[in-house]
Amino acid sequence: MKSLRTRLFMSFTALLAAALVTFGIITWLVAREAMMNDVDDFLRTKATLLGRFVTPSRNRIEPWIEQDMQIQERHFMLQVFRADGAFASKSSNLATTIPLSDEVRRSEHPAGNAVIETLYADGRAFRAATHPRREMWGDPVVLYAQALMPLDNVLARERRLLAWLASCGAAMLAAGAVASWHLSRQWLRSVSSLEEAARGLSSSELGLRRLFVPSDDAELAALAQSFNHLLDRLEAAHTTQQRFTADASHELRTPLTVLRGEIEVALRKPRAAEEYREVLVSNKEEIERLSRLTENMLALAHVDVGDAITQRELVNVSELCSGMVTRLQNLATERRITLHHEDTTTEPLSVNGDRIALERVIFNLVENAVRYSPTGENVTVRVSKAPPWIEIQIIDTGGGIAPEHLPHLFERFYRVDKARSRTHGGSGLGLSIVKALVEAHGGSVSVSSEVGHGSSFTVRLPAA
Ligand code: ADP
Repeated sequence: MKSLRTRLFMSFTALLAAALVTFGIITWLVAREAMMNDVDDFLRTKATLLGRFVTPSRNRIEPWIEQDMQIQERHFMLQVFRADGAFASKSSNLATTIPLSDEVRRSEHPAGNAVIETLYADGRAFRAATHPRREMWGDPVVLYAQALMPLDNVLARERRLLAWLASCGAAMLAAGAVASWHLSRQWLRSVSSLEEAARGLSSSELGLRRLFVPSDDAELAALAQSFNHLLDRLEAAHTTQQRFTADASHELRTPLTVLRGEIEVALRKPRAAEEYREVLVSNKEEIERLSRLTENMLALAHVDVGDAITQRELVNVSELCSGMVTRLQNLATERRITLHHEDTTTEPLSVNGDRIALERVIFNLVENAVRYSPTGENVTVRVSKAPPWIEIQIIDTGGGIAPEHLPHLFERFYRVDKARSRTHGGSGLGLSIVKALVEAHGGSVSVSSEVGHGSSFTVRLPAA
C-alpha cells in the first residue's frame, strides 16, 4: 500500500515531467523553425548579392568576391551556373560541384527571387538559395547565383539546443521532485499529528479527551470535528453499554439474593412439608422472574445485533391484535379489567414484518395496560389506518403516568414505581423491547398519558 505522501509526490512529479516534456517539444519545434528561417534568409541575401557581382561574361567567383562576402567566416559556399544550367564556377571552399536542380530550372521567378531547397551531395545535406539573375524584370534568366550551407551546422545547433533543453528540464524536474517531497511532508504533518493524537486516545479517556481542531486548515478541522463527533457517539454508546451491564447485574442480583435468603432460612431448622412447599413456590416465582429477565435481555441483544427481524411476511395486524387480546383475556379477568379489541375498518390491515416480533410488541403493551391499571378499568386495543401507516393504539383508563416519567419510559430498565413494578414481575425492559422492535420495522411508538385518566400507547407501522 502506497502512502498518501508517496502518491502525492508521484502524481506531482509525473505532472511536472509531462509539462516539461511538452514545453521542451514546443520550444524545440519553434526554435528549429526560427533557425531554418534565419539560414534561409541569410542564404537568400548572399545568393542575390552574388548575382550582382557576376555577369554572363564574367561568371567566375574571384577571390575578392569570396573575401568580400566573408565565405570562410560565415561557413557558406557559392556556385554560379550559366543560363542553360551548365556549371560555371564555385567558391574555393566547396569540394565538389553540386548540379543545379530541376526545380530551379523549372521555376518561374520573374522578380528574380531565390529558390530555397535542400540538396544532397557526397552523403551530405546542403541548404541552398538559388537566385536566377535577369537583366530586366520579366527578361529571360542570364545566370544562376547560388549560396549553400551544409545542414550539419544547423543540425549541430539543433543538437546543442536539445541538449540544453534536456539538461535544464532534468534539473527542473529534480528540483520540483525534491520540493514536492518536502511540501507533501509539510502538508501531511497535520494529518500525522491528528493520527498520532487519535492513536494516543485510550478507551478510558473516551469521555475526557477530544482531538485538537486546527483553526488554519479547513479540511483538517472538518476531519478532526467529525472524528470528535464520532468519539461523542462512541462515548454515548459506551456509557449506555456500561449502564446496561450495571442495571442488568443489579436486576439479576435481586432475585438471586431473595432466593438465597429464602433457602437459607428454610434450611436453618427442620420444617414441615407444607413449609418447604411454600418456600419452593416462592422460589419458583423468583426463578420465573429470572427467566423472564434473561429472555428479555436476550431479545434486546438480538435487536442490538440486528437480528430482530428473522423472517418477513405479510401480517394481518387486526387478526394479530385480536389474538393477543384473547391470550391476555385470562389475566384481564383475573384483574377484573375489561379488555377488548376494536377495528375501525373492515378491510384487512397488513404490515410486512416478523410475526413473532410484532406479537411481542402488542403483548408487552397490552400486558402493561392490564397489569398497571387498577381493578375495574378498561383496556382497548384499536387498529386503524393512517396512510402510509397502520396505527395500533392501546388505550387504558388506568392510573396514568406522571409527565416527568414519559421521556424515559422507553429506556432500558426504566420503571416508574420500582417496588410496585417488581411485584408485577417487570424489570423495565418491556417498553424498550417494544421500541427497538417497532423501529426495526421502520415504525415508531409514542405515549400520551394523564395521571388519573389513563394512558395511550400508539404504534405506527408502515402499511404493506
Ligand atoms: P416493566 O417490565 O417494568 O413493565 P416496561 O418497560 O414495560 O417495564 O414499563 C416501564 C414502566 O412504565 C413500568 O414500570 C410502568 O410503571 C410504566 N407503565 C408501562 N405501561 C403502563 C401503563 N399502561 N399504565 C401505567 N404505567 C405504565
